[in-house]
Amino acid sequence: MTSRRTNTLRSLVGGSAACIALMASLPAWAATVALTGANVVDIDGGAPVRNAVVVIEDERIAAIGPATTTPIPADATVIDLPGKWLIPGLMNMHVHLALNLPGAARVYNESHESIALRMLDNAQKSLRSGVTTVRLTGAQEGIDFTVKKMIDNGTFEGPRIHTAGTSIVPTGGHGSYEVNGVAEISRAVREQIKQSATWIKLGISGGISDTHGDIAASPFTDDELRTAIEVAHRNGVKVTGHNGSPIAAEVAIDAGIDGFEHGYYLTAPVLTKMKQKNIWLVPTIVVTQPGAREFYKKIGSPDWYLDRVDTAGKTHFKTLQEAIRIGTPIALGSDQYPWEPNSGTTATIREAELYVQAGMTPLQALRSGTIESARMLGVDNEVGALRPGYFADIVAVDADPTADIAALRSISFVMKGGKTIVDGASPPQSQL
Ligand SMILES: [Zn+2]
Repeated sequence: MTSRRTNTLRSLVGGSAACIALMASLPAWAATVALTGANVVDIDGGAPVRNAVVVIEDERIAAIGPATTTPIPADATVIDLPGKWLIPGLMNMHVHLALNLPGAARVYNESHESIALRMLDNAQKSLRSGVTTVRLTGAQEGIDFTVKKMIDNGTFEGPRIHTAGTSIVPTGGHGSYEVNGVAEISRAVREQIKQSATWIKLGISGGISDTHGDIAASPFTDDELRTAIEVAHRNGVKVTGHNGSPIAAEVAIDAGIDGFEHGYYLTAPVLTKMKQKNIWLVPTIVVTQPGAREFYKKIGSPDWYLDRVDTAGKTHFKTLQEAIRIGTPIALGSDQYPWEPNSGTTATIREAELYVQAGMTPLQALRSGTIESARMLGVDNEVGALRPGYFADIVAVDADPTADIAALRSISFVMKGGKTIVDGASPPQSQL
């Protein structure tokens, strides 16, 4: 510990119990770090800070500026990243950490212990691939809350987790917690919130992986949908809907929903309403495009599933193009593991590349996977950008991703909350 820090702590102590508690809450790696030699991307589209110094105090960014005018504190550990480009840690807003899809690899009657370990493994791989924040959109048995707690308290490394708990659906719907009527749905929503869900996920239409029903159906009654959203909003919690149906979309928009997942098929009038009412679209485009074939082959997906993916893929991509053209708010989400190999990179990065193919500028795609996701979560005052006071969630790549989004393929350094997670020359995805 440096003398400067010791003095700070001494002045903090001052005999008060509150101050001692504060000391105890300082993370074990409390330190000053300076990142040098890299260029910092301005997520708001301004000129980058070239040859920057980024000073990090404990978990947060203390200063960012050109090397010529930004002093490096004497006690700082210097990490030199010459010629690299620094961007905020990536954010993936549609994640299941223990996927269990139809096919040869499906696990039946999986134990809670197995689910927990798979979630932890995938959380760690996600972080190492550059994803520092995830939103979980449907987990099982409340295990997500335990995994989040163990990561938040520092027992395990992993991304920051926002979770919707278990996905709530009408009986026969796309998800695991089946409810019927306003009493059951309000109880289900309250149960998730009691366990610390900060989102509610509703299966408002059918899904690609369902073996029954219609993806275009809208199986909740208006009363059920309105009640779920009202109960969530009364608790300050937002609601998103698994949705591939313009009919279900209209009903849910009228009921006051905050976002849609996938949007396998949404019409221009629906996308326009979403823009007007600031309703988010989390595209997960990567799951229906050819790059996911490799994954489906790996897990032994049946032919009927692959056929559905192909059919949905065409309207899915058109919907995304239309949403970008209209200006519907978009936050990046992959529905595959954030680190899952896809087209020579990860699902998260491929998702961003597909946004550019569908009409976004590279900066817009980068924003969807950083500050726009943070805006959707309501945490854009501390993650999603590199600014003093923000968490030091930082990723380094070899080139400017606002010039070419494919630069994200070269992630070689990952920091979360001031702690270096990956500090290597080769891309982390090749080490998985
Ligand atoms: Zn999903």
